Amino acid sequence: MCQSKQRVSATKRLINHYPHCCFCGGNQPAETRDHLPPTVFFDGNHRPEDIVVPACTARNVGSRESDRIAAFYSRIGFAEPTRTQRTDFQKLSKAIRENNPEIAREWSVDDRRIQQKARFFAHKHGLFCEDDPRAILLGPEAINHLNLFVHKFTLGLYFHVTKLSVPKNGDVTAAIWPKEVILEKGFPDVISDIMGPTVILKQGKWQTGRQFKYRTARDSELGFFARMSAFRDAFAVIDVVIHDLRKIDDRGTRSLFLDPTKLFSILVENRFKTLQPHNQLAS
Ligand SMILES: [Zn+2]
Repeated sequence: MCQSKQRVSATKRLINHYPHCCFCGGNQPAETRDHLPPTVFFDGNHRPEDIVVPACTARNVGSRESDRIAAFYSRIGFAEPTRTQRTDFQKLSKAIRENNPEIAREWSVDDRRIQQKARFFAHKHGLFCEDDPRAILLGPEAINHLNLFVHKFTLGLYFHVTKLSVPKNGDVTAAIWPKEVILEKGFPDVISDIMGPTVILKQGKWQTGRQFKYRTARDSELGFFARMSAFRDAFAVIDVVIHDLRKIDDRGTRSLFLDPTKLFSILVENRFKTLQPHNQLAS
């Protein structure tokens, strides 16, 4: 009872300060607190009470499946998992099979070829490789969900850093960099050179840098906010919020951005079924 009372008052306190949902372009009243990254991203669902943002119920609850799917892929890294991580992985896998069978079907497509490719990649880069490396296809259905997760996450972290929603003419873009791409290409210096120091989520002495960290760059005059985030060693995200998209002349660059009020269209738009076009942002 006490805990529930505390939760209600914490939500109320946040909404009193910030009455609008940070994911809807400042148009919708906030009703809940949304935690970023979501609990499922952390070992044993143990997350620091660090990044908490105001959200409407639709945005908070509506992305849960995407959160779970992104959390699952964030756990397919190069490092050998601990016992807790193995248990988490199994739970996430089971929940996805039950709730998103379309994603589980992607896993079984051409499984042998995927495993062979993973083995070849591991040997090429001198990585430790078990006889049967954990490799799972990142298919178009999964990429839709990952894109929803990273774009929503970008809006939330923008709010966390600036205490503002993305403005009316503002837009957002986020490029997912899987570990294989990072290993082969590395991050472009033009991006990493402008980023500030690494931020790690902490609570007291406890910190979760191996599970999530980020760096930020901003230019208030140009109306530009960019970030690099790392989700374990599985994938990274380079994202940009621009305050006024009309200031970008190049049509190709403009087409990479999304109006925050159309966030959930990511799940059905073809352009969000692939990682490639978004990687143009930093290539
Ligand atoms: Zn909202």
